[in-house]
Amino acid sequence: MSTLRFAGSAYNSAAGTRDAFGRLSDDLVAEGLPAMVVLDGDREKADQLRIWYQRMTLNPGGRKVYGTAWWNGQKWYRIHPDAVGVPDTSNHEKRRADDLAWPYNSDTAAHRRAQVLAKRHNITCEGMGFREWWHWTFWGPLGTIGAPAGGTGSTTAPPPIQSEEDDMAVLVTGGGQNLIVGGKLIPLTPADVGAVKGAQVLEVTPNTHYNIIQAFARDTANSALPVLVYVHDGDGTVYALSDGKLRALVDPTTLAALHAQGAASVTLSKAEVDNLIKS
Ligand SMILES: [Zn+2]
Repeated sequence: MSTLRFAGSAYNSAAGTRDAFGRLSDDLVAEGLPAMVVLDGDREKADQLRIWYQRMTLNPGGRKVYGTAWWNGQKWYRIHPDAVGVPDTSNHEKRRADDLAWPYNSDTAAHRRAQVLAKRHNITCEGMGFREWWHWTFWGPLGTIGAPAGGTGSTTAPPPIQSEEDDMAVLVTGGGQNLIVGGKLIPLTPADVGAVKGAQVLEVTPNTHYNIIQAFARDTANSALPVLVYVHDGDGTVYALSDGKLRALVDPTTLAALHAQGAASVTLSKAEVDNLIKS
């Protein structure tokens, strides 16, 4: 058992990355230094997009702009103090990077020693190149991508995913992942996805995926949590969809609470949102 620890819902699902950080942490502990704690490991594509839409907008309006970035041929404005990687480019998305807690997050003696020991394990502090001393990256073979290890600080186990006898479970991917069992739509966490076995996999475009979720959200509006709606060409406002009605979320703690409860999220265009508001 390695000394490496994962806080909250952080995880590394690539065996290569997990083992390398584990051995580095063990080396540090053997020298009397603290074990490594991962605050943020792998990021799923859908999560990266969610963070992107929270922090970046095409239309900053009168809001403070902290930076800009190009994505999909368009200039995006950052309206949040924290940076976010351009989707599909981050080593978190590639299952290689971990953001570590103190003392491996800043210029400390332990950090400097970790930089030396890390070379043995094909790890560097990549973040030093962009003033993020907490961001470390493994460059070796990823190995098996398995059920995510981590989340030791989490108290909620993923719900068991069962197929009802006569229903074929369908895993829907594209802009996020959901399982359809017996006419019910189940939003999946990365841990859930690892637990899915024997489902037919349906690859759809992100747009179709959103439409599927919307259809289910309308059908189960009274019993399900609201679906969080991000607007990819909007002004940064996030909406909650329930009972077929869209309302703006003005309280960020509500947004965090809905995410914590596993509310599904979708990204729609401004035009689609305007239509929903009208209906
Ligand atoms: Zn990072």
